Amino acid sequence: MDYQKLIEEVYDEIQKENPRGKVATYIPELANVDPDQFGIALVDLKGNVFGVGDYQTAFSIQSVSKVHTLAMVFHVFKSKLWSRVNVEPSGNPFNSIAQLEFEKGIPRNPFINAGALVITDALYSKFERPTDQISDFINELSGRSCVRINQEVKESEKNHAERNTALAYFLKAHKNFDNKVEDVLDVYFAQCAIEMSCEDLAKSFSFLANDGYSIFAKREIVSESHARRINALMLTCGFYDESGEFAFRVGLPGKSGVGGGIAAVMPHKFSVAVWCPELNDKGNSVKSIKALELLTDKLKFSLF
Ligand code: GLN
Repeated sequence: MDYQKLIEEVYDEIQKENPRGKVATYIPELANVDPDQFGIALVDLKGNVFGVGDYQTAFSIQSVSKVHTLAMVFHVFKSKLWSRVNVEPSGNPFNSIAQLEFEKGIPRNPFINAGALVITDALYSKFERPTDQISDFINELSGRSCVRINQEVKESEKNHAERNTALAYFLKAHKNFDNKVEDVLDVYFAQCAIEMSCEDLAKSFSFLANDGYSIFAKREIVSESHARRINALMLTCGFYDESGEFAFRVGLPGKSGVGGGIAAVMPHKFSVAVWCPELNDKGNSVKSIKALELLTDKLKFSLF
């Protein structure tokens, strides 16, 4: 399979069609990004990198980091984790608080904000230097020191934290949050403010395409069974209230972020990261989704 030719074709067709959306505006730092940037990186299981467009430009990975933190925490807590967070699609926006009331403070899944806050709270309890250790972990997965935390983005998130703070206190009211809200939010905003390129992001997801073993870190990151479960969660919950649509159109486990990035995996074949900052009204990148749809259409296979 000539992956380089494939992603170049995808890139050219998407650029020609040029579907547009709107960049995230909830913090000024994200609103100021050049909306015309677009890159694709695909990494096969031998570690070969195929890239096109702005695939080496660092961008704000935002909620894509929820997969990295889940992998760190799942490895430590194992199945006990699922007493604190469910594994059901939410069908609601990423920052929704509605279901928490009816479901007694147990978030629907680890990829909506409420669930990710529980995961970061669990991480905070077990890791002594949580922010540094998240960065170290992602650097290790990418095979090089690539992670930069954008402090302006982090500070801005903090200054617009009403909803995430409300979610955290609501979880605390239901005794599903062990640490100080401000301390955990500080780590959560740092993980959201991580910047890295499509190339490094695709490398950091490679272990999920490879039964839990990272060829870049040269070790098993999670067991094969945990890798399958993280992939199942990405397939069913990785795109908030657009998860069904992504499974229908693309058919790969993946995770999006409001920075416009999407990382996805084709188990036993490759990991891929696509980035374009303009989003649809569900907070997912318009061009990145289209690119992945075209990719699996051209490949004539997906998970299905
Ligand atoms: N920093 C954002 C938030 O917590 C991340 C959301 C996202 O990427 N979907 O609100």
